[in-house]
Amino acid sequence: MTTVEIEAWLREDDPVRLEELWAWADRVRREHVGDEVHLRGLVEISNYCVRSCAYCGLRAGNRRLTRYRMTAEEVLACARQAVAYGYGTVVLQSGEDYGMTRDWLADLIRRIKAETTLAVTLSLGERPEADLAAWREAGADRYLLRFETSDRALYDRLHPPRPGQARSDRLALLDRLRELGYEVGSGVMIGIPGQTYASLARDVALFRELDLDMVGVGPWIAHPQTPLGGKSRVTGRESRVATEQARAWLPGLPQWEQVPNTEEMTYKVIALTRIVCPEANIPSTTALATVNQASGRELALARGANVVMPNLTPPRYQALYEIYPGKACLAETAEAGHRRLLEQIRRLGRTVGKGSGSRRKRASVFLRDT
Ligand code: SAH
Ligand code: SF4
Repeated sequence: MTTVEIEAWLREDDPVRLEELWAWADRVRREHVGDEVHLRGLVEISNYCVRSCAYCGLRAGNRRLTRYRMTAEEVLACARQAVAYGYGTVVLQSGEDYGMTRDWLADLIRRIKAETTLAVTLSLGERPEADLAAWREAGADRYLLRFETSDRALYDRLHPPRPGQARSDRLALLDRLRELGYEVGSGVMIGIPGQTYASLARDVALFRELDLDMVGVGPWIAHPQTPLGGKSRVTGRESRVATEQARAWLPGLPQWEQVPNTEEMTYKVIALTRIVCPEANIPSTTALATVNQASGRELALARGANVVMPNLTPPRYQALYEIYPGKACLAETAEAGHRRLLEQIRRLGRTVGKGSGSRRKRASVFLRDT
């Protein structure tokens, strides 16, 4: 599929054509990664962050947020919970928090790997290469780092450098992560202010060029304590309020070029990603479940996704990990969420994935490389 075709699908709004897209993505998903849904237990280990991303509630400038950092024992208890629920992976996520030192985290990774058979995925921002190497050495298997947008100028605006530091280059860091032997995941937000249809089509094409093992996408959700501002919900009038505030901050983009941060646009990107990256692990993200609490997760699984990341963070911390407001998972306990998830997977006629759920590359891919 060419970038022009991807863009045409992003602009498609004929419901009959979209049904064809969902069915196509579901077929590709079944043929390439099967019916298993892999479960990864998410642990939000710290909400400190040195960065000032214009979209994110954890940004350093948000003084209204109470900050926390979990202890190693608390994180280990969550990893044990992941084992008890039968998950194959634990995902450790945080702001870019240098209070969490290289050695502390390396030790924690070693303890998880010694005590469990879990795969360990990290999502800790743009840490120096020596940190990333030490954590890989300690046994971390995967790293998630979204490039957020392939539009360089927009990226620089939304994701400014740390004071006195070079401009951020997440694409270069993804290369380094791969060289270090990590399985690499990336992704973007859908409908971030300033995102055009053409740039989102290039994002999807870039997922394929980067040969990503995992691709996570979710709608941008306005956070009032950020420069993009706005209300928490992405429906109806409130969405327009958010867009107007963002437009004042990021002038110049005609309204018809702006990608909307809707649920449907997110499904389009999930489906197209499955079609262009048939073997990738693609999560049904929490941001999507936040905009449609009733059926967002299931619809994504039926339109190309094959991974869910249930939140195992203790509730008192989860409430403070406010990247965006109104996170879906907070509505229920981990136990209730776990039971509901198993029921959803069963209803879809799918099965819970066994093992760590690493990306399976087809033999032909290896043959081509040798
Ligand atoms: N600090 C790390 C990991 C935590 S942020 C990092 O930045 O990589 C994880 C992801 O949350 C980001 O990559 C971004 O795509 C997403 N995110 C941040 N703010 C958001 C918002 N307001 N709405 C939706 N997604 C958001
Ligand atoms: Fe920090 Fe990540 Fe939020 Fe940026 S997106 S402010 S790096 S937590």
